[in-house]
Parts: sequence; structure tokens; C-alpha cells
Amino acid sequence: MTSSYDVIVVGGGHAGCEAAHAAATMGSQVLLITMNMQTIAQMSCNPAMGGVAKGQIVREVDALGGMSGIISDKTMIQFRMLNRSKGPAMWSPRCQSDRHAFAWEWRKTLESNLNVSFWQDSVRELLVKDGTVCGVKTTMGMFFYSKSVVLTNGTFLNGRMFIGEKTFGGGRTGEAASSGLTEQLIELGFESGRMKTGTPPRVDGRSLNYAAMEEQLGDAIPGKFSYTDTPALTEQKSCWITYTNQAVHDELKTGFEKSPMFTGRIKGLGPRYCPSVEDKINRFADKDRHQIFVEPEGRDTVEIYVNGFSTSLPEDVQLRALQKIPGFEQAKMFRPGYAVEYDFFPPTQLKHTLETHQVANLFFAGQINGTTGYEEAACQGLIAGINAHQSVHEKEPFTVKRSEGYIGVLIDDLITKGTEEPYRMFTSRAEYRTLLRQDNADIRLTEKGYQLGLASSQRYNALVEKQAKIAELTKAIQTKKVKPDEVNAWLVDKNSAPLRETSSLQTIIKRPETTAENVSQLLNLTLPNADVYSDEVIEQTVVELKYEDYLLREKQNAAKIDRWESLAIHIDFDYDKLKALSFEGRDKLKRLRPSTIGQASRISGVSPSDISILLVYMGR
Ligand code: FAD
Repeated sequence: MTSSYDVIVVGGGHAGCEAAHAAATMGSQVLLITMNMQTIAQMSCNPAMGGVAKGQIVREVDALGGMSGIISDKTMIQFRMLNRSKGPAMWSPRCQSDRHAFAWEWRKTLESNLNVSFWQDSVRELLVKDGTVCGVKTTMGMFFYSKSVVLTNGTFLNGRMFIGEKTFGGGRTGEAASSGLTEQLIELGFESGRMKTGTPPRVDGRSLNYAAMEEQLGDAIPGKFSYTDTPALTEQKSCWITYTNQAVHDELKTGFEKSPMFTGRIKGLGPRYCPSVEDKINRFADKDRHQIFVEPEGRDTVEIYVNGFSTSLPEDVQLRALQKIPGFEQAKMFRPGYAVEYDFFPPTQLKHTLETHQVANLFFAGQINGTTGYEEAACQGLIAGINAHQSVHEKEPFTVKRSEGYIGVLIDDLITKGTEEPYRMFTSRAEYRTLLRQDNADIRLTEKGYQLGLASSQRYNALVEKQAKIAELTKAIQTKKVKPDEVNAWLVDKNSAPLRETSSLQTIIKRPETTAENVSQLLNLTLPNADVYSDEVIEQTVVELKYEDYLLREKQNAAKIDRWESLAIHIDFDYDKLKALSFEGRDKLKRLRPSTIGQASRISGVSPSDISILLVYMGR
């Protein structure tokens, strides 16, 4: 058996799968070591991909040549474009996935890549020589050697699960925890912390009364994540909505004295924006109900995920409270909700490539960095996998700027600011969110993925073709003059003022009454060959034309800030020689070692005058 590889990826979760796929596709020999081959790409929590800001991340991963988008498309059972009623920067694709099919599709994808080898085992120790990682040792006593290692241990490092007063070691229900690594990393000089997350109970769909709930249908014309030609979803499954009530809250309160959260047995901080149901009724005591999304776990299973009811209260309390929810009166539980507490490593110990400062060629990606969510994990895995490959082949590091993608925002936030609680992505975290839309991720990133050798030539050619079509349609719209009789009936029908004289098509497109839903009708009325353009080409062209002034300003702002991003600071820069720096600024700069002036400017505690001092010094 070969025991020497270019890249070893530890962990087969969302981060590990993208990391292994990226490095192997780019040509590295990769060994994926994971504790259980049956749980590769397991969705630990809800069976869904995307959502607000997260959907944009999946599209970015796809644009670079990652697999999460393709696999989501192949295994989804419902698709919705969220926030359609808001501006295009907020539109976010989200799908309900078939949990088993998703995991299985990932495994097939990795197995079909001949550069990926597998080993089922738990990594206990890193092999480190002269400050550089050179392999791993497993619980079975195996030694595997490599030029780089990507750690993606998720919630497994010294993981401990909680249900009421019961507590047991484990990274996820039914799976053992991982020990040894945290302790060794601390000895190597790393800082670690504890975080917590939780999951709701799963129930038997046959025991629910859907007539008492609101049906939530998928989009009439379902979209998808991938820019490739993945098949369109034809048969969708519905989700359902119901609500908690005072009786549910009262029942939950009977378990508070046994709650591991309220009794202080869980020390780690949980995700504030994804609180447990007991946390919600405790913190928002004035709210008399909370929404519950009733979501199928797959196409061919009766198992239901009770979204919004994450809890670690005793299982009997969980069941009694569930049965007071409309539609759940006869509910049978498949498994109770639980909380898990685990070790993470504050991400300020990483470079933009996700390589650690302390140990060369060692990369961290996913929940181990204090994030939460499959999408956040997947994109980090992708970047770590790319850079592990680049590093062992002595190629340029690869990073994404804040102005180029949510991936750039996420990594920059993590390594510059760190995180006190599980970090999830929001659109509000991005300063250029109008530029970082779900419709244009391919235009932003595919060429980069292609140059890396990750995005295929088919992908790249499709992009070039799409750009040509967009240019053609843009020109057609900009040059088209429309006569009143061509469009007035349509305008009146849309409650928009009729034209009095010939006007340009672009000005009609800019009207608020022209929307994503009806713009194709307008183009069909006014352009001779509008039907040759795909929906994606139309969407992208229209968004760019409708908001052109605003987007131009955003691009100019981004370019200004990007200038600071290109002013590099050497990793070994001696901040002590700049006596004028503030005490706090110098301390933070020495600890976080920003790689650019732009990054330095975002560190809390580094003042504008510290930045001026650095700029003056660099100018010299
Ligand atoms: P994981 O998906 O956890 O995968 C880690 C992998 O590493 C596993 O395959 C494991 O077997 C393997 N592994 C670990 N240690 C070793 C080792 N030493 N050797 C070999 N293999 C190892 N996210 C949300 O966005 N919202 C939520 O509400 C939410 N709730 C959650 C509830 C629970 C109970 C859990 C467990 C997770 C929850 N998550 C939630 C988080 C989401 O599941 C993760 O963010 C995401 O799966 C992280 O991906 P990852 O690849 O970093 O790690």
C-alpha cells in the first residue's frame, strides 16, 4: 500500500470532500482519511443547501470548479430562489436535498477520481519536522506521509453530545469523537477554544397531519446551482410550515432545569443566529409563537426534519412539546435533538490560503475554524485543497478578494477578526454585495478556476460563450429605440406610464415595473430574436443594465479599496521598529501578521493613524 502522498485530507465532511476533489483534480495524489467511509459528505444537520448568502457561496464554489453545486443539483427535491421580491443582490438559491443521495453522490464523485485514495481510520497525530508537516499517524497505528495536510475535523475534536442530563462523547450522533489532535496542536503552540451547535429531533412523517399546516411549494420553474448543464429538477416535494404556541413553550420550560445549556454544563458558545428552541423562548419571552419548517429528509423516506426546533432538552420533554404543535399531535420521534460541544482553533492563526502560521503546509478548513454550515465549510475546503496543491507543487498561492466573492469575505473575516461564536455568512458581511450576486459568480471566478486547472475547459468555454451573448444582448438593448405602439399596451398592463414618444429600450428596462419575471415578455415584444437568449443571459444582462450607475460606483469603490489589498506586508515585518504605532495596534499587527495593508486596516484595534504610519513607511 502506498504510504506517501502529495496531500492528506483528514475528514470526509463538506470541507474535506471539496479539498480532496480540488487537489486531486489539479493533479495531486490525495489520501482522504476519514473515520467512517459510510458518512462521507454527511449532512449533520438539515438536509438543505444554499439560502441567503450561502446560496451565493455554493455558486462561487461551482464557478471555481468545486462540486457542491453539481451535487446539490443532482440530489435536490425542492428548489426556491429566496428573496425574489428584493433587489438582485439578495436573490439566493436554496434547495431541499435528499440527504442520502447527496452523500452518495459525493462518494461516487470522489471514487471516480483516480487521484483520490481512501483510508478509513481516525488521525490521532500529525508528523511534524522542522516546523513543517510531513504526514499523520492514525489510531490503528498507521503512518502516512505527505507534503501537506488539510485538517477538516468538523465537530469531532473532543466532541461531546448532550441530551438533557445525559452526556456522551461523540462528534455526531452514532459517531465517535476524535482525540489526540487538539492536545498535540496546543503543544505545537496553537490556541484552541470550545463551541457548541445543536440539531432538532427527526420525526416520522406518517404520524403528521399536514392538513393542519401551510404547504410550502418549490418554485414553479425551479432553478439550480451549477453553471454546468446539470439536469433541471422535474418533480418537487413540498415542505410545510407550522408554529409553536404557548402550550409548547410551557412544556419546554418543564425541562429547563435539566437543560445542559441553562445549567452551564455546555460551556462553548453556540450560533446566535440559529438558536435552540429553548433559547428562543427564553430570550424572546414576549413572542407567543415561533415558525417551524417541516422538511422531508429525502425523496423516498418518511423521515422529517423539524427545522426551527433544535434542542438539547430531555427527549421526553422534546416529544411532549412536539405533540402540542399543530399537525404534530400524534407525532412519533425517530431520534431526539441534541447539542454537541467541540474544539475549534481561532482562525486568526491562519493565512489567507488557510495554511497555519505555526506549521508550514498544514491547512485548516471548515468547522474546525469556528464556522458553521455546509456551504461555509465547502468553500474553505476548496481554498485549502487548492492551496495545498499549489504549495506542494511550488506554485503561487490562490486567494479570493473581498470584492471578488463571499469566499473572500468569509476567509478575510475569519483570519482578520477571528470569531467568538460559530461564524455563518450573511449578505450584510459583504461590503460589495451588489457585485457579489448569485447570477454572476461564473463571471467573477470561473476564469480563475480554469487557470488553476480546476474548472474544466467546457466550463470555461461555456463562460466565454455566455459573455459573448451578454455583450450581444447588451448592445441590442442599448441601441434599440422603441415606439409607443410597440409597448404601450404592455406598459399599461404592468401599471407603468405609457410612452408619449420613441424611447430607448434601456430606459423602459430601468423602470421599477419591469421585473425579472416580466422582462422576457418586453424583450420578445421589442427585439426580433430575443428568444435565442437563455434565461441566465437575460437575467445577467438586465441586472447589469438596470442598476448600471449603482454598480459602476460600487466597482469604483472596490477598485479603490483593492489598491490597499495589493500593498503587501512581509510576514516577518518588524513592527517594533515603527515606534509611532499605537501600543494596541502594534500588538495586534504582531499577533495577526496581516499580509496586506487592506487586511491590516480591518483589524480591530489598528487605528487609521497606524495605517498612515505603515503607508508612510512603505512609501519610503
Ligand atoms: P463535518 O461535516 O463535521 O465533517 C467532519 C469529518 O471529519 C467527518 O467525516 C468525520 O468523520 C471526520 N473526522 C473528524 N475527525 C477525524 C479524525 N481525527 N480522523 C479522521 N476523520 C475525522 N450548521 C448549520 O449551518 N446550521 C445548523 O443548525 C447546524 N447544526 C448542526 C448540528 C449538529 C449536531 C452538527 C454535528 C452540525 C451542525 N451544523 C450546523 C454544522 C454543519 O454540519 C457543519 O458546519 C458542517 O458539516 C461542517 O463541515 P466540515 O467538513 O467542517 O465537518
